Amino acid sequence: MRRYKGKTVCGGVTIAKIKIMKKNNSQVKRRKIQSVETEIACLTIAVQRSINQLQELYDKALIEVGETSAAIFEVHQMLLEDEDFMEAIKNMIRTENVNAEYAVAVTGDNFSSIFSNMEDEYMRARAIDIKDISERLIRNLKGKEGDLEAFEDNVIILADDLTPSETVLLDKDKICGFATVKGTTNSHTAILARMMDIPALIGVDMPLNELKDGMLAIIDGFNNELIIEPDEETKKKILDVINEEEGKKLLLNELKGKENITSDGKIINIYANIGSVNDIGYVLENDAGGIGLFRSEFLYLGRDTFPSEAEQYHIYKQAAQMMADKKVIIRTMDIGADKKVDYFNLDKEENPALGYRAIRICIKEPHIFKTQLRALFRAAVYGNISIMYPMITSTWEMDRIEEIVDEVVRELDSEGIQYAIPEQGIMIETPAAVMISDELAGRVDFFSIGTNDLTQYVLAVDMQNDKLDDFYNPHHKAVLDMIRMVVDNGHKKGIWVGICGELGADTSLTRIFVEMGVDELSVAPGEVLKVRRAVRDI
Ligand code: PEP
Ligand code: MG
Repeated sequence: MRRYKGKTVCGGVTIAKIKIMKKNNSQVKRRKIQSVETEIACLTIAVQRSINQLQELYDKALIEVGETSAAIFEVHQMLLEDEDFMEAIKNMIRTENVNAEYAVAVTGDNFSSIFSNMEDEYMRARAIDIKDISERLIRNLKGKEGDLEAFEDNVIILADDLTPSETVLLDKDKICGFATVKGTTNSHTAILARMMDIPALIGVDMPLNELKDGMLAIIDGFNNELIIEPDEETKKKILDVINEEEGKKLLLNELKGKENITSDGKIINIYANIGSVNDIGYVLENDAGGIGLFRSEFLYLGRDTFPSEAEQYHIYKQAAQMMADKKVIIRTMDIGADKKVDYFNLDKEENPALGYRAIRICIKEPHIFKTQLRALFRAAVYGNISIMYPMITSTWEMDRIEEIVDEVVRELDSEGIQYAIPEQGIMIETPAAVMISDELAGRVDFFSIGTNDLTQYVLAVDMQNDKLDDFYNPHHKAVLDMIRMVVDNGHKKGIWVGICGELGADTSLTRIFVEMGVDELSVAPGEVLKVRRAVRDI
């Protein structure tokens, strides 16, 4: 039995077999080979395996994200069957007597750079696909299972690090916990773990190379511990804790259908945060009154091209319909900082958190923004959709947003397309927005306070820096005073004010938030009932 300490990002306890997620590290060494035939036979098997995997991905994507996005996996299959590409790899194996992985890596790089220098934009975009299929082939040649796509049910994922885009790709139904060596408690990977409501640890000092898939492990989120190959006594203790937790969950379940009301009759809205329509089942199961934050940028992560208007429309419409008349607040995409996507072609930045992200990208590249707004306005016909804009700092940004919204409305009118103009609010997550919240309140329908970013900007603490975890204090007086100020300024202008950052679920502050007059708390679906109990206990 071995124990490794980490930091809990989502409490709870679980026991399961481990699955180690290795990075798709395609560092390939050149080797002299004995038999060209054997090497080419291995290549043929790896190609077939890749094609099968891509077919599975296509089928999954077709159901989850629709035909347009799924098509990329068809393109990948076609590229794998491309004769020029395959012949070039085989030729290199034959003429240079080198291993297939090396031949694939070199040929992949060559083809990819040919594509990236082409005139045609569509062909240029294929460069990344060539890279992708080459990496897949190499993984299959190496017989590496550590891909992000295939693992058994009910596993604990162990990884060096998981980016938000990798986390998005994980098949959430199959995972019962995860632990990573790197990462910070305030990162979006941690936030995703809370949304999935599974025990998760980060900063675990575990020797990944010595651990093997299939070993039994425990994640003890209460004691910040990963336990590998637990002995019988430890297993028994953990099973007792799991039973106890189940009991607590059952007690919370009794609060379903009850109001979020304090003993003196004040009612608070408790909504849920989601990253995809797949989370909505969980929202309903936990009896949330609506969706307070749909992080739409997750639709943009873990893929190679922009989601089209049609795809987004379909997803937002589905969310609106599934939630019936309940509020669905969709935040326009907040790409940038830790949520990176290759096809946005963002420059490497010295200070990504202070960089080109969210509404800044939308204002500078309105074609991206307009596609999303069109999809949102069209979907708003089908339910109670509101939208909100992230990272606002100034009134001129509001001017520009209003201009772009007007353009979108004019275009939809002239095309005769059905739409509705949703309620529009903003995230208050920069100190500047707090300080001008009196002015901003007159421009929007509601405020939602993003305490995650607000804390990092007020305290000048980069939330991606794990050395600074102790300095990241959302309870800091400065943060709490700012929340109070925003609520007061919002109410003076007659708009409602909510909190959708992680602090909203901190039940040690629920009483204070209620006293401040916060109207809504939007939390991970699994935390709705816990916050309801805290409100009812006031
Ligand atoms: C926040 O900053 O508190 C917030 C809710 O936005 P995100 O965590 O997605 O940046
Ligand atoms: Mg934010």
